Amino acid sequence: EDRIVGSRAKEEDIDEASLRPRKLSEYIGQNKVKENLTVFIEAAKKRNEALDHVLLYGPPGLGKTTLANIIASELGVNIRVTSGPAIEKPGDLAAILTNLGNYDVLFIDEIHRLNRSVEEILYPAMEDYALDIIIGKGPSARSIRLDLPKFTLIGATTRAGLLTSPLRDRFGVINKLEMYTPEELKLIVERSAQILGIKIESEAAEEIARRSRGTPRIANRILKRVRDFAEVKGKGLITKEIAIMSLDALEIDPIGLDGVDRNLLFSIIDKFAGGPVGLETLAATTGEEANTIEDVYEPYLLQLGFINKTPRGRVATKLAYEHFGLRYE
Ligand code: ADP
Repeated sequence: EDRIVGSRAKEEDIDEASLRPRKLSEYIGQNKVKENLTVFIEAAKKRNEALDHVLLYGPPGLGKTTLANIIASELGVNIRVTSGPAIEKPGDLAAILTNLGNYDVLFIDEIHRLNRSVEEILYPAMEDYALDIIIGKGPSARSIRLDLPKFTLIGATTRAGLLTSPLRDRFGVINKLEMYTPEELKLIVERSAQILGIKIESEAAEEIARRSRGTPRIANRILKRVRDFAEVKGKGLITKEIAIMSLDALEIDPIGLDGVDRNLLFSIIDKFAGGPVGLETLAATTGEEANTIEDVYEPYLLQLGFINKTPRGRVATKLAYEHFGLRYE
């Protein structure tokens, strides 16, 4: 699959690690989140306590993993990285928890995908730094409680609503990551270009920023694709012309919509007379997975004001019609 937009880090993102800011001061944008975290991190360090558990939510590629790593590094502790689907059994999580050092960060990506029995281990772990284990069977079974190191859980998910409420309630700090402005994305593109040794004109960086749907991962992916065009069709320097030519070749329109976005919008407009149309129906008509539509494509379309969510389904707005030069009635 050769999509620029997509939920997961892919092979082309292998150098993501090198592009990742390491300090809060290098982390561009998300000012509110940064301000709050700075205070909480300072306070935890002063009191010699573990930082309260942190939930980060927002669409893929907005910097949740990056921020988790930065939090650990600002706290001066180790981070253990895992994900919801990777922890299959309660014992897997117990093993991870008992191996943490005091004040360490445990990062669980896609935390909404933990299964129930694993999630239940987390409750006492988060609340009391304790692990309850049942030994024996039947009437003689009893539960013993083991102490765990004081740790900070950082959970990441696309939507806070995907978490069960007992889990969500156990996070002391809940932060929503917002889509980045074109100005912030321009800084990110220029920073990445510098790290990768790519020469880029200011206006070209702006062009990429405008078409990156508010998402740093997408901005970095586009930058790397455009570099290929610049090397093959130009002299290496990414000019505005090269940027526009490559973005057109990648079928990313001037506001960052790709083929899937167009397919989704045209389906609502053409096949369902502008909507409302339910998510599952939209998924079936477009051949996209409902989850992918909801987590990856919709956030940007909602942000643009091209679709609205109503109780009866998705509706295309006047702005969407106008973007495609269609009459809205
Ligand atoms: P998520 O975990 O939300 O899917 P990541 O943290 O993996 O997103 O971010 C994807 C990439 O985007 C990172 O490798 C990093 O290069 C870049 N990135 C994310 N947030 C920022 C930021 N605030 N400033 C600079 N680069 C960022």
